[in-house]
Amino acid sequence: MSSLDMPIPSPLPVWIDETLKNPECVSWPGVHTKSGYARFGKYRVTRLIMRAKPGQVVMHTCDNPGCINPLHLRLGTQAENVKDRDTKGRGVVLRGTEQGGSKLTNADVLQIRATYKGRGKGPSQAKLAKQFNVSERLIWSVITNRNWRHV
Ligand SMILES: [Zn+2]
Repeated sequence: MSSLDMPIPSPLPVWIDETLKNPECVSWPGVHTKSGYARFGKYRVTRLIMRAKPGQVVMHTCDNPGCINPLHLRLGTQAENVKDRDTKGRGVVLRGTEQGGSKLTNADVLQIRATYKGRGKGPSQAKLAKQFNVSERLIWSVITNRNWRHV
């Protein structure tokens, strides 16, 4: 069943009427997804309210993912949504190899961590730096988990 065929769950229509009189954000009293979006069963509440078709995304003009005020919602495409997010500077945070100037791949990081056994045992940080053609400081930060925590 697509969200189009799904009747809006019963308390919602009344609620939406109330909401429409309200210019403020209205947060969904029910369950939210991990990223903070209002959820009803396996459906996104905002998709039900906006009758979003497959391929359409519901965008929040208020930037509040838990808000279900139809006045703060508009239908758009995925491309628009991405553009909107970039404009607002909420794009994905770059990490590790995605960062400009980074010269280590995730595989390198794993190899460095596996190879380095500690001071005086096995290859030194200086040697690893030479081997991977990066600074000793970078090797140190990999070993001490200051960077690439996600690897
Ligand atoms: Zn809102």
